[in-house]
Amino acid sequence: MKRLLCVALALLVLFSSLTLFSCKKDEGVCIEEYTIVIPENADLSTKYSAECLSSLLFEKTGKTVGICLDSEPEREKEILLGETSREESQISLALDNGQYTIFTSEDKIVLRGYEIYIGSACYALASAYGAISGDKIYTSKLPSEPCAYTYSAPNAYSSVIFMIGDGMGEAHIQMAEEKAEFSFIAKSFPSKATSITRSLSVINGDASFTDSAASATAMATGYKTINGYIGIDKDLNPLKNVRELAHEQGAKTAVISTDLITGATPSSYMCHDASRDNDEALTEQINALVQSGAIDYCQGDVGDELTTHTKTALNQISQNNSAFFVMIEEGIIDKKAHSKDAQGVIDTVKRFNDAIAYATQFTLMHPEVALIVTADHETGNLVPTTPGKYYFGSFNHTNKNVPIFALGAGTAELNEQKIENTVLAQFCARAYSSAPFGDSTVYE
Ligand SMILES: [Zn+2]
Repeated sequence: MKRLLCVALALLVLFSSLTLFSCKKDEGVCIEEYTIVIPENADLSTKYSAECLSSLLFEKTGKTVGICLDSEPEREKEILLGETSREESQISLALDNGQYTIFTSEDKIVLRGYEIYIGSACYALASAYGAISGDKIYTSKLPSEPCAYTYSAPNAYSSVIFMIGDGMGEAHIQMAEEKAEFSFIAKSFPSKATSITRSLSVINGDASFTDSAASATAMATGYKTINGYIGIDKDLNPLKNVRELAHEQGAKTAVISTDLITGATPSSYMCHDASRDNDEALTEQINALVQSGAIDYCQGDVGDELTTHTKTALNQISQNNSAFFVMIEEGIIDKKAHSKDAQGVIDTVKRFNDAIAYATQFTLMHPEVALIVTADHETGNLVPTTPGKYYFGSFNHTNKNVPIFALGAGTAELNEQKIENTVLAQFCARAYSSAPFGDSTVYE
């Protein structure tokens, strides 16, 4: 028996050394020699996956990998993202929802994915195969044939990107997609849920619908409150919000909005006041946070720079693998819906979608991040009527439920749930602490 084992061992050693001799040893190539190539008409997912991959490679290697279009002359070493015109990108493998592939072909590295999941292929290149070490890439460690892999998210999350479309109901998204001919990226997230937006004023019978202050306070603190209140309960007691909790626990925090920074939604993640209209007090509280460094990135009124600020903030607050919390709001959808301005709603939903597309790729390349896209309430009672036509039934907010879309670590638990908006605060809080957070009252 012992002799047999020895023979087997000897054969194994012989076989291993033969394999070593027969293979060319992979000495690695400095990652800088590669260029990321995307199609000239790349969709948002592919475009932002290239940017996020370049950032991720810089984080890992300290070297910059440039990005170019496939219309530019072919280089020797290329990382091909999406369906580029290079022949290596043309594959017969069919990728289903949630799937991606990664393989090498000569000096090319081919990354393909179903819609948003191009980001998973990028993440696999940077992390999954140990192909990148120091500032070098060892392509022999990567698969040499196209094979379909399926995205899966871990359960544990330590950071949250929380995105709010103010006043954005299902119909606002549908109308924008139809009229501006794009796909709302968050609709392809694996988890979808429904948020019940009623405030304490609605529950008490004092109002027909929530306002942005009570709704954002619910999502920030986990407590339903009175319309108009910012970060306080019905008895005027200040409530801790998730951004404060994250900061307390050593995470970096950020608030970004296309609305004024003193708007009801951003304020609810920073302030405590009995009135959303108390501009002076809100400004003072926000300034104090910024000056003391209790918030790491704080920018309102960002307009068409929403994606730019999203990129800058995410790259800044995630540095050195720091945990973080960021609230990103498209605040103008609500204002346009209040004035029944359909084109305004379409434009702002589209602008929001662009920032979501970046956050999506960032999340797929940072597996400790949970990404939530939702709304604080519906505005305008927007309904589709005859095909292609939409009708605003009101100049005001409604009590309609709003969608929740979730991607990334821990978000599977939200799938197909119908929850009070306060539950979203509790979900966010679990990234930073296991202690109970918010109110556990069940409202009838
Ligand atoms: Zn609102």
